Amino acid sequence: MRYTDSLARSAEHLRAALPLMTRQRAALHPVSYAVWYEFVSARNLALHQAVLTHTRDGATLDEAQTWALYQDHIGSQLTSLDAATAQKVGDGLARVLDTMAASAAEAGQETARFDNSLNTWVEQLLGDPNQQTQADVLQELLSGSREIRGAVGALQSQLSQSQHEIEALRQEVRHARNEALVDALTGLSNRRAFDQALSTCLANSAHKPDDPKAAASTAPCLVLGDIDFFKRINDSFGHGFGDQVLRAVAQTLKTVAANDIITARIGGEEFALLLPRSSLDQAEGLAEKMRSTVAKGRIRRGEQAQEQQNVTISFGVTQLAPGESANDFLNRADRALYASKHQGRNRVTVLTSDSNDAQEPVKLRA
Ligand code: GH3
Ligand code: MG
Ligand code: MG
Repeated sequence: MRYTDSLARSAEHLRAALPLMTRQRAALHPVSYAVWYEFVSARNLALHQAVLTHTRDGATLDEAQTWALYQDHIGSQLTSLDAATAQKVGDGLARVLDTMAASAAEAGQETARFDNSLNTWVEQLLGDPNQQTQADVLQELLSGSREIRGAVGALQSQLSQSQHEIEALRQEVRHARNEALVDALTGLSNRRAFDQALSTCLANSAHKPDDPKAAASTAPCLVLGDIDFFKRINDSFGHGFGDQVLRAVAQTLKTVAANDIITARIGGEEFALLLPRSSLDQAEGLAEKMRSTVAKGRIRRGEQAQEQQNVTISFGVTQLAPGESANDFLNRADRALYASKHQGRNRVTVLTSDSNDAQEPVKLRA
């Protein structure tokens, strides 16, 4: 759990955080409070330093700075695989293994004892023809066999109990890992999942060079999207509605994208789609479909029919050049997105790899 302060201590932090928080230009939402709570409780050194830097010489935090501080110093930690979960799973596995090892050792000792007894009994049987002795030995043999059956039964039930415990632990790991890769607000992949998918995709594509004879050359394509004038939406209708817009746009992107396309929220109102193998035309077509679907949609703000908001999104599209780094690939998609913003927003810009040189003016595809 991230916040473990007692009621009294958290009340102290509240009293200290409130005057600081209200002095800023950012609105007084839970994100602001999280930033100032972590600041006054001195639990997050990096955040503390960053806030001090931003507020030097009486400067105050605006909305974007507050969100950025939250995302850089709090949000990223909340989504990482929780160290406590990892510790718990590790301890649990060690416990299960210990118990299994102890049960197996016990069953092994029991078997060894039985084996010794068997030898002695057989010697006695062969060496003494007396019927009473034979009956006694057989009796002992029988009870020894029962004991060994008991020990094996105990081992079996211990093993099946351990299997259940291991399955529960495995589910816990799956859940924690899933949480660490999913954006909690929209349910899309998060930045971390996107970065992983991108590096896997680039590694795979290095082994599968494109077929130059193919009609439209296929390679990984990247589509970056950024909601237009999102700050205005937040400022006019509040962050709650802003979050609703983010969820609605994410849902549209997910519905339009095919299953093999990684769809991620990689920043506040920024989305990335990674098409593992596609022509540039297909990637452009997909971005265009997403753009027009978002532009046509209306997001309900309240109960009244007229309280609906339209939102637009700009896109940048590009295709991986042979041997290119993830950074150059991302940068070019970003430049394409920037060109869409620059030319009036609510549009799709495609940039080909021969316009990668930062010195060159942005060369748009004809
Ligand atoms: P542009 O068309 O140039 O992209 O303008 P913009 O207003 O969309 O871009 P800008 O970067 O100025 O503003 C983005 C805003 O997104 C700033 C920040 O308050 C907001 N934001 C970031 N993350 C979230 C979030 O998770 N929820 C909400 N509601 N707002 C967020
Ligand atoms: Mg942005
Ligand atoms: Mg934007």
